[in-house]
Amino acid sequence: MTLDADVVIVGDGPVGQTLAIMLAEKEWKVTLVDRWPEPYTMSRAVAFDSEAARILASIGLTEYINTQTEPSGRYSWQNAKEQTLLDIRGVSQGWCHWPDSTSMFQPALESALTARGARLPTLNVLRGHEVVDATDHGSYVEAGCIGPGGERREVSGRWLVGCDGANSFVRDRIGAAMHDLNFSRDWLICDVVLHEARTFDPNNLQICDPARPRTSASAGPGHRRWEFMRLDDETVEELDTEESAWRLLELFGVTPLNATLLRRAIYAFKSQWADRWRSGRMLIAGDAAHIMPPFAGQGMCSCLRDAANLSWKLDLALRGHGDDTVLDTYGTERARHVQHAIRMSVNLGRVICQLDPVAAADRDVAMTAARERGIGTGAPKAPVHPLHGGLLYRGGGARGDRLAGRLMPQAMVRRGNKIGLLDEVVGTGFVLLAGEDPRPFLGAPTLAYLKSLNVRVVSVGPADAPAEDDASVADTDRTYLPYLAREDARAVLIRPDFYIYGMIADSGEYLTLFDDLRQRLGAATAVSERLSTG
Ligand SMILES: Cc1cc2nc3c(=O)[nH]c(=O)nc-3n(C[C@H](O)[C@H](O)[C@H](O)COP(=O)(O)OP(=O)(O)OC[C@H]3O[C@@H](n4cnc5c(N)ncnc54)[C@H](O)[C@@H]3O)c2cc1C
Repeated sequence: MTLDADVVIVGDGPVGQTLAIMLAEKEWKVTLVDRWPEPYTMSRAVAFDSEAARILASIGLTEYINTQTEPSGRYSWQNAKEQTLLDIRGVSQGWCHWPDSTSMFQPALESALTARGARLPTLNVLRGHEVVDATDHGSYVEAGCIGPGGERREVSGRWLVGCDGANSFVRDRIGAAMHDLNFSRDWLICDVVLHEARTFDPNNLQICDPARPRTSASAGPGHRRWEFMRLDDETVEELDTEESAWRLLELFGVTPLNATLLRRAIYAFKSQWADRWRSGRMLIAGDAAHIMPPFAGQGMCSCLRDAANLSWKLDLALRGHGDDTVLDTYGTERARHVQHAIRMSVNLGRVICQLDPVAAADRDVAMTAARERGIGTGAPKAPVHPLHGGLLYRGGGARGDRLAGRLMPQAMVRRGNKIGLLDEVVGTGFVLLAGEDPRPFLGAPTLAYLKSLNVRVVSVGPADAPAEDDASVADTDRTYLPYLAREDARAVLIRPDFYIYGMIADSGEYLTLFDDLRQRLGAATAVSERLSTG
């Protein structure tokens, strides 16, 4: 049977688009289906973190980030008396070199993703088609869609990924239930364009006022977001009016005379994750698999991590490397990882959403005391949590365990005359980064195996090293050699999603590391035929 695609993706939101691009960049044939004829024109997310920026840059969105976003800057919490409870000064170069937090207008991000996808010949976008049915036939999946004129159409692929948002149809189809932390609050979201630019300091402000918790946030160049929590004695209908929006915006000096209200909407900030991320040939990613309150700005970032994690495992499965059990590690890794982001967001929410004036006063005393002891100032604690379990090297004993699952930092390196970020200069995919030339320790069979996985073998030398060939870089930022030395690592194997598979402390361990990888991925089998793209 001739299939339409290697992978059918349901949902053309940020996670569906990102996953589609990652797969189509590897020349897999992707059909991306969305129920609406046109993309949604309003923002939900307003910011992404350093790791999300790295993911976006890796799929060709560097220019978008450089020209259409801005660093989010300072993030403060104040109480009702405007006393500072928390003051976080994000740095412009975070763990992945990009800012800790970047402000953006989500439709501009989605347009940039659409434009990137349009340049990939194996990516076919089918808008105006709602997926109403999906059947796993064992060796392929078939999705039934209803088109704009009510006509039915089938779309088939080897795999199907539901990136179909919070009310996911595919999630139901795979029989997943949602774990619920039962933290849910309604907030009125107001997206505003000010008629004249204004400086906000702090640029992002959380007012923890029990009379009305509220937020003022940067939302990308030329955009601002204000959010107001619904009170217990107020109905959704009362809060969700234009009049309420302007009345509340006036608290920040924003009126119809100086601003345009692009839209208002009430969102219920929920905290849930799916108990199953795969069934047979169907998987879920993004909001389909998890939802969290936006207080840590981690919702879409977690979605992008899903895409980064899933894309290389799907690529391996499609290429016929081992069996497809590698895909089970996707849900194992991501479900545990995302729970950290959800719990962190809920913990912040419980503090912010306090409506009891007595409890709020106690909170203010505790947070003020913490600030006096230096807690809650300076750079934010990175929300990036290590991976636990899943596809990680555990052969290195206590030392190896230390780095397995950590996000590899990104810095500038040089190869010959080219200076750039590690991902740009070296390229993405598996990277073996060593403080020595590892090739003499690998041997022909291992080198052949690494070639079959497209592992880039790179030795990093001092800043003034010539680094002229494809297998070396110079550590211009003086980041990587100190990092390896600090961790007592000879080399690290970086996965395509930038998490460390494992480290070795001794050159004699290279073969053990790769034997372990080979075992976990299953013996490399013949590369299967790609679907014809004609
Ligand atoms: C108020 C608010 C503020 C937020 N702020 C942040 C923030 O600052 N930072 C951050 O990282 N995250 C934030 N988030 C979270 C972020 O917006 C979401 O996590 C992200 O947009 C989800 O992307 P997605 O692609 O998974 O889903 P969606 O963007 O919802 O896309 C799903 C797509 O699937 C399509 N679809 C659904 N069902 C079908 C079907 N049956 N057939 C075909 N197509 C279908 C839909 O039309 C839609 O296009 C915020 C969320 C909210 C609500």
